[in-house]
Amino acid sequence: MRQVLDEAAKGGYGVGAFNVNNMEQIQAIMEAARETKSPVIVQASRGARAYSNDHFLYHLMLAATEVYPEIPTVLHLDHGNSVETCKSAIEMGFTSVMMDGSLLADGKTPSDFDYNVKVTREVVEMAHAKGVTVEGEIGCLGGIEDGHGAGLDGLSHLTDPQQAVEFVAASGLDALAIAIGTSHGAYKFSSAPTGETLKMSRLIEIHKRLPNTHLVMHGSSSVPKDLQDVINQYGGKLKPTWGVPVEEIQLGIKNGVRKINVDTDNRLAITGAIRKVFAETPEKFDPRDYMKPARDAMKKVVALRMTQFGQAGHAGDYTAIPLAEMAKRYAAK
Ligand SMILES: [Zn+2]
Repeated sequence: MRQVLDEAAKGGYGVGAFNVNNMEQIQAIMEAARETKSPVIVQASRGARAYSNDHFLYHLMLAATEVYPEIPTVLHLDHGNSVETCKSAIEMGFTSVMMDGSLLADGKTPSDFDYNVKVTREVVEMAHAKGVTVEGEIGCLGGIEDGHGAGLDGLSHLTDPQQAVEFVAASGLDALAIAIGTSHGAYKFSSAPTGETLKMSRLIEIHKRLPNTHLVMHGSSSVPKDLQDVINQYGGKLKPTWGVPVEEIQLGIKNGVRKINVDTDNRLAITGAIRKVFAETPEKFDPRDYMKPARDAMKKVVALRMTQFGQAGHAGDYTAIPLAEMAKRYAAK
Protein backbone atom coordinates (compact mmCIF):
# COMPACT_ATOMS: atom_id res chain seq x y z
CA MET A 1 0.00 0.00 0.00
CA ARG A 2 2.93 2.33 0.67
CA GLN A 3 3.75 2.28 -3.04
CA VAL A 4 0.12 2.88 -4.06
CA LEU A 5 -0.10 5.88 -1.71
CA ASP A 6 3.31 7.27 -2.74
CA GLU A 7 2.19 7.11 -6.37
CA ALA A 8 -1.10 8.79 -5.44
CA ALA A 9 0.82 11.60 -3.74
CA LYS A 10 3.00 12.03 -6.83
CA GLY A 11 -0.08 12.16 -9.05
CA GLY A 12 -2.12 14.32 -6.66
CA TYR A 13 -5.04 11.91 -6.37
CA GLY A 14 -6.76 9.76 -3.71
CA VAL A 15 -7.42 6.03 -3.62
CA GLY A 16 -10.67 4.55 -2.32
CA ALA A 17 -10.39 1.70 0.18
CA PHE A 18 -13.47 -0.49 -0.07
CA ASN A 19 -14.52 -3.05 2.53
CA VAL A 20 -15.36 -6.62 1.59
CA ASN A 21 -16.86 -9.73 3.18
CA ASN A 22 -17.52 -11.98 0.21
CA MET A 23 -16.77 -12.89 -3.39
CA GLU A 24 -19.31 -10.61 -5.03
CA GLN A 25 -17.96 -7.50 -3.30
CA ILE A 26 -14.40 -8.34 -4.37
CA GLN A 27 -15.59 -8.92 -7.93
CA ALA A 28 -17.51 -5.62 -7.94
CA ILE A 29 -14.39 -3.68 -6.90
CA MET A 30 -12.08 -5.46 -9.36
CA GLU A 31 -14.51 -4.97 -12.26
CA ALA A 32 -14.81 -1.27 -11.41
CA ALA A 33 -11.00 -1.06 -11.27
CA ARG A 34 -10.61 -2.67 -14.68
CA GLU A 35 -13.29 -0.45 -16.21
CA THR A 36 -11.71 2.73 -14.82
CA LYS A 37 -8.07 1.50 -14.92
CA SER A 38 -7.62 2.16 -11.21
CA PRO A 39 -5.21 0.86 -8.58
CA VAL A 40 -7.17 -0.84 -5.80
CA ILE A 41 -7.24 -1.06 -2.01
CA VAL A 42 -9.48 -3.87 -0.77
CA GLN A 43 -9.87 -3.95 3.00
CA ALA A 44 -11.27 -6.37 5.53
CA SER A 45 -12.22 -5.60 9.12
CA ARG A 46 -11.96 -8.05 11.99
CA GLY A 47 -15.68 -8.64 11.52
CA ALA A 48 -15.14 -9.48 7.85
CA ARG A 49 -12.31 -11.87 8.67
CA ALA A 50 -14.54 -13.64 11.19
CA TYR A 51 -17.53 -13.70 8.80
CA SER A 52 -15.74 -15.08 5.75
CA ASN A 53 -12.73 -16.79 7.36
CA ASP A 54 -9.29 -15.41 6.49
CA HIS A 55 -8.46 -18.27 4.17
CA PHE A 56 -11.44 -17.60 1.94
CA LEU A 57 -10.69 -13.87 1.82
CA TYR A 58 -7.03 -14.39 1.08
CA HIS A 59 -7.60 -16.90 -1.70
CA LEU A 60 -10.39 -14.83 -3.24
CA MET A 61 -7.90 -11.95 -3.36
CA LEU A 62 -5.27 -14.21 -4.94
CA ALA A 63 -7.89 -15.08 -7.55
CA ALA A 64 -8.48 -11.36 -8.07
CA THR A 65 -4.79 -10.80 -8.83
CA GLU A 66 -4.84 -13.72 -11.31
CA VAL A 67 -7.95 -12.49 -13.11
CA TYR A 68 -6.91 -8.79 -13.02
CA PRO A 69 -3.09 -8.91 -13.33
CA GLU A 70 -2.95 -5.37 -14.73
CA ILE A 71 -4.38 -3.83 -11.53
CA PRO A 72 -2.04 -2.94 -8.62
CA THR A 73 -3.95 -4.52 -5.71
CA VAL A 74 -3.62 -4.06 -1.94
CA LEU A 75 -5.18 -6.29 0.72
CA HIS A 76 -5.46 -4.18 3.87
CA LEU A 77 -6.57 -4.94 7.44
CA ASP A 78 -9.07 -2.30 8.57
CA HIS A 79 -8.96 -1.34 12.30
CA GLY A 80 -6.64 -3.96 13.75
CA ASN A 81 -7.33 -3.79 17.51
CA SER A 82 -4.07 -5.32 18.73
CA VAL A 83 -0.53 -6.28 17.76
CA GLU A 84 -1.71 -9.93 17.69
CA THR A 85 -4.51 -9.17 15.18
CA CYS A 86 -2.07 -7.34 12.90
CA LYS A 87 0.42 -10.19 13.21
CA SER A 88 -2.17 -12.77 12.14
CA ALA A 89 -3.11 -10.65 9.12
CA ILE A 90 0.53 -10.27 8.05
CA GLU A 91 1.03 -14.02 8.41
CA MET A 92 -2.08 -14.62 6.31
CA GLY A 93 -0.71 -12.51 3.46
CA PHE A 94 -2.29 -9.07 3.91
CA THR A 95 0.02 -6.50 2.29
CA SER A 96 -1.04 -3.67 4.62
CA VAL A 97 -2.42 -3.41 8.16
CA MET A 98 -4.04 -0.75 10.29
CA MET A 99 -3.05 -0.74 13.94
CA ASP A 100 -5.79 1.33 15.53
CA GLY A 101 -4.16 2.15 18.84
CA SER A 102 -6.51 5.10 19.36
CA LEU A 103 -8.66 2.55 21.19
CA LEU A 104 -7.60 -0.16 23.62
CA ALA A 105 -7.68 -3.80 22.46
CA ASP A 106 -11.40 -4.00 23.36
CA GLY A 107 -12.00 -1.76 20.33
CA LYS A 108 -14.17 0.55 22.46
CA THR A 109 -12.18 2.45 25.10
CA PRO A 110 -10.16 5.49 23.97
CA SER A 111 -6.48 4.92 24.83
CA ASP A 112 -3.75 7.36 25.79
CA PHE A 113 -0.97 8.70 23.58
CA ASP A 114 1.81 6.53 25.01
CA TYR A 115 -0.17 3.32 24.53
CA ASN A 116 -0.96 4.29 20.95
CA VAL A 117 2.69 5.01 20.13
CA LYS A 118 3.82 1.77 21.78
CA VAL A 119 1.49 -0.62 19.93
CA THR A 120 1.77 1.21 16.60
CA ARG A 121 5.58 1.26 16.81
CA GLU A 122 5.57 -2.46 17.56
CA VAL A 123 3.42 -3.22 14.51
CA VAL A 124 5.57 -0.94 12.32
CA GLU A 125 8.70 -2.90 13.26
CA MET A 126 7.03 -6.25 12.65
CA ALA A 127 5.29 -5.19 9.41
CA HIS A 128 8.16 -3.29 7.78
CA ALA A 129 10.45 -6.29 8.28
CA LYS A 130 8.08 -8.12 5.89
CA GLY A 131 7.58 -5.16 3.54
CA VAL A 132 4.02 -4.60 4.81
CA THR A 133 2.55 -1.09 5.15
CA VAL A 134 1.13 0.31 8.41
CA GLU A 135 -1.70 2.76 8.94
CA GLY A 136 -2.23 4.25 12.41
CA GLU A 137 -4.91 6.48 13.93
CA ILE A 138 -4.76 9.44 16.28
CA GLY A 139 -8.00 10.88 17.62
CA CYS A 140 -11.18 8.76 17.58
CA LEU A 141 -13.77 8.42 14.84
CA GLY A 142 -17.42 8.59 15.81
CA GLY A 143 -19.87 5.70 15.77
CA ILE A 144 -19.43 1.95 15.85
CA GLU A 145 -18.97 -0.42 12.95
CA ASP A 146 -18.62 -4.19 13.15
CA GLY A 147 -18.39 -3.82 16.92
CA HIS A 148 -15.44 -1.44 16.61
CA GLY A 149 -15.63 2.13 17.91
CA ALA A 150 -16.08 4.15 21.07
CA GLY A 151 -19.69 4.91 20.13
CA LEU A 152 -19.13 8.64 20.60
CA ASP A 153 -20.15 11.40 18.25
CA GLY A 154 -17.58 12.42 15.67
CA LEU A 155 -16.50 15.57 17.50
CA SER A 156 -15.55 14.10 20.91
CA HIS A 157 -11.97 13.11 20.08
CA LEU A 158 -10.81 15.24 17.15
CA THR A 159 -7.16 14.82 16.16
CA ASP A 160 -4.85 17.37 17.77
CA PRO A 161 -2.45 18.61 15.05
CA GLN A 162 0.59 18.87 17.33
CA GLN A 163 -0.05 15.39 18.73
CA ALA A 164 -0.33 14.09 15.17
CA VAL A 165 3.17 15.39 14.39
CA GLU A 166 4.60 13.71 17.49
CA PHE A 167 2.71 10.49 16.78
CA VAL A 168 4.01 10.17 13.22
CA ALA A 169 7.61 10.76 14.34
CA ALA A 170 7.43 8.37 17.28
CA SER A 171 5.59 5.52 15.53
CA GLY A 172 7.23 5.52 12.08
CA LEU A 173 3.92 4.69 10.36
CA ASP A 174 3.18 5.01 6.62
CA ALA A 175 -0.33 6.49 6.70
CA LEU A 176 -2.28 8.39 9.33
CA ALA A 177 -6.02 8.19 9.96
CA ILE A 178 -7.36 11.36 11.55
CA ALA A 179 -10.61 12.28 13.29
CA ILE A 180 -12.23 15.39 11.82
CA GLY A 181 -15.88 14.79 12.70
CA THR A 182 -16.77 11.79 10.57
CA SER A 183 -18.34 8.62 11.94
CA HIS A 184 -18.58 5.01 10.85
CA GLY A 185 -21.89 3.62 9.66
CA ALA A 186 -24.83 5.14 7.78
CA TYR A 187 -25.75 7.81 10.35
CA LYS A 188 -22.87 10.26 10.13
CA PHE A 189 -24.61 13.63 10.24
CA SER A 190 -28.22 14.49 11.16
CA SER A 191 -28.25 17.33 8.62
CA ALA A 192 -26.02 18.38 5.72
CA PRO A 193 -22.53 18.77 7.29
CA THR A 194 -21.08 22.25 7.81
CA GLY A 195 -17.63 23.46 8.84
CA GLU A 196 -18.84 23.03 12.43
CA THR A 197 -19.54 19.30 12.11
CA LEU A 198 -17.07 18.27 9.41
CA LYS A 199 -13.79 19.93 10.31
CA MET A 200 -11.98 20.21 7.01
CA SER A 201 -10.02 23.15 8.48
CA ARG A 202 -8.51 20.71 11.00
CA LEU A 203 -7.46 18.39 8.20
CA ILE A 204 -5.83 21.24 6.31
CA GLU A 205 -3.93 22.29 9.42
CA ILE A 206 -2.66 18.73 9.99
CA HIS A 207 -1.53 18.52 6.36
CA LYS A 208 0.36 21.82 6.73
CA ARG A 209 2.30 20.38 9.66
CA LEU A 210 2.74 16.93 8.05
CA PRO A 211 3.07 17.66 4.32
CA ASN A 212 4.79 14.32 3.62
CA THR A 213 2.42 12.04 5.55
CA HIS A 214 -0.33 10.19 3.70
CA LEU A 215 -3.61 11.07 5.42
CA VAL A 216 -6.59 8.70 5.61
CA MET A 217 -10.24 9.69 5.82
CA HIS A 218 -12.38 7.07 7.57
CA GLY A 219 -16.16 6.99 7.64
CA SER A 220 -16.20 8.73 4.26
CA SER A 221 -19.21 7.31 2.50
CA SER A 222 -21.31 10.04 0.95
CA VAL A 223 -24.59 8.24 1.79
CA PRO A 224 -26.28 9.67 -1.32
CA LYS A 225 -30.03 10.18 -1.16
CA ASP A 226 -30.69 8.18 -4.33
CA LEU A 227 -29.24 5.04 -2.73
CA GLN A 228 -31.28 5.63 0.44
CA ASP A 229 -34.40 6.19 -1.66
CA VAL A 230 -34.15 2.83 -3.47
CA ILE A 231 -34.04 1.01 -0.13
CA ASN A 232 -36.99 2.93 1.30
CA GLN A 233 -39.00 2.69 -1.93
CA TYR A 234 -38.86 -1.11 -1.70
CA GLY A 235 -39.86 -1.55 1.93
CA GLY A 236 -36.73 -0.39 3.77
CA LYS A 237 -36.87 1.89 6.79
CA LEU A 238 -33.75 4.07 6.76
CA LYS A 239 -34.00 7.26 8.77
CA PRO A 240 -32.92 10.48 6.98
CA THR A 241 -29.11 10.79 7.14
CA TRP A 242 -26.18 12.65 5.59
CA GLY A 243 -22.67 11.49 4.73
CA VAL A 244 -19.45 13.19 3.64
CA PRO A 245 -20.03 15.12 0.38
CA VAL A 246 -17.69 14.11 -2.44
CA GLU A 247 -16.56 17.76 -2.84
CA GLU A 248 -15.27 17.74 0.76
CA ILE A 249 -13.34 14.53 0.06
CA GLN A 250 -11.89 16.18 -3.05
CA LEU A 251 -10.83 19.14 -0.90
CA GLY A 252 -9.16 16.60 1.40
CA ILE A 253 -7.33 15.04 -1.54
CA LYS A 254 -5.94 18.48 -2.39
CA ASN A 255 -4.66 18.55 1.19
CA GLY A 256 -2.80 15.28 1.67
CA VAL A 257 -5.61 12.69 1.80
CA ARG A 258 -4.47 9.59 -0.13
CA LYS A 259 -6.78 6.86 1.20
CA ILE A 260 -10.53 7.22 1.54
CA ASN A 261 -12.50 4.50 3.33
CA VAL A 262 -15.90 3.73 1.83
CA ASP A 263 -18.19 0.95 3.04
CA THR A 264 -21.71 2.23 3.73
CA ASP A 265 -22.36 3.44 0.16
CA ASN A 266 -21.68 -0.07 -1.14
CA ARG A 267 -23.86 -1.66 1.53
CA LEU A 268 -26.70 0.66 0.55
CA ALA A 269 -26.29 -0.11 -3.16
CA ILE A 270 -26.32 -3.87 -2.55
CA THR A 271 -29.31 -3.80 -0.23
CA GLY A 272 -31.32 -1.53 -2.53
CA ALA A 273 -30.71 -3.79 -5.53
CA ILE A 274 -31.73 -6.91 -3.61
CA ARG A 275 -34.87 -5.27 -2.17
CA LYS A 276 -35.88 -4.18 -5.67
CA VAL A 277 -35.67 -7.75 -7.03
CA PHE A 278 -37.58 -9.14 -4.04
CA ALA A 279 -40.32 -6.49 -4.36
CA GLU A 280 -40.74 -6.61 -8.13
CA THR A 281 -40.31 -10.35 -8.72
CA PRO A 282 -41.25 -12.15 -5.50
CA GLU A 283 -41.48 -15.45 -7.36
CA LYS A 284 -37.69 -15.56 -7.85
CA PHE A 285 -35.57 -17.73 -5.56
CA ASP A 286 -32.24 -18.27 -7.35
CA PRO A 287 -29.67 -16.25 -5.36
CA ARG A 288 -28.00 -15.24 -8.61
CA ASP A 289 -31.16 -13.36 -9.58
CA TYR A 290 -30.48 -10.84 -6.82
CA MET A 291 -26.73 -11.21 -6.23
CA LYS A 292 -25.94 -10.23 -9.79
CA PRO A 293 -27.88 -6.93 -9.71
CA ALA A 294 -26.41 -6.32 -6.24
CA ARG A 295 -22.88 -6.81 -7.57
CA ASP A 296 -23.61 -4.53 -10.53
CA ALA A 297 -25.01 -1.82 -8.23
CA MET A 298 -21.89 -1.91 -6.04
CA LYS A 299 -19.63 -1.85 -9.10
CA LYS A 300 -21.36 1.34 -10.29
CA VAL A 301 -20.80 3.09 -6.96
CA VAL A 302 -17.14 2.00 -6.77
CA ALA A 303 -16.40 3.06 -10.36
CA LEU A 304 -17.95 6.47 -9.67
CA ARG A 305 -15.88 6.96 -6.50
CA MET A 306 -12.69 5.86 -8.31
CA THR A 307 -13.35 8.52 -10.90
CA GLN A 308 -14.22 11.18 -8.31
CA PHE A 309 -11.14 10.41 -6.19
CA GLY A 310 -8.88 10.71 -9.25
CA GLN A 311 -7.34 7.21 -9.16
CA ALA A 312 -9.00 6.30 -12.48
CA GLY A 313 -6.50 5.92 -15.32
CA HIS A 314 -3.52 5.32 -13.00
CA ALA A 315 -3.40 1.49 -12.82
CA GLY A 316 -0.80 1.33 -15.57
CA ASP A 317 1.54 4.00 -14.16
CA TYR A 318 3.71 1.51 -12.27
CA THR A 319 4.29 -2.15 -11.51
CA ALA A 320 3.97 -3.46 -7.97
CA ILE A 321 7.14 -3.66 -5.89
CA PRO A 322 7.34 -7.13 -4.29
CA LEU A 323 7.09 -7.25 -0.47
CA ALA A 324 10.67 -8.58 -0.16
CA GLU A 325 11.95 -5.51 -2.01
CA MET A 326 9.80 -3.21 0.16
CA ALA A 327 11.31 -4.88 3.25
CA LYS A 328 14.79 -3.99 1.97
CA ARG A 329 13.75 -0.40 1.35
CA TYR A 330 12.29 -0.08 4.86
CA ALA A 331 15.45 -1.60 6.36
CA ALA A 332 17.62 0.92 4.48
CA LYS A 333 15.66 3.93 5.86
ZN1 LIG B 1 -12.56 3.28 10.04
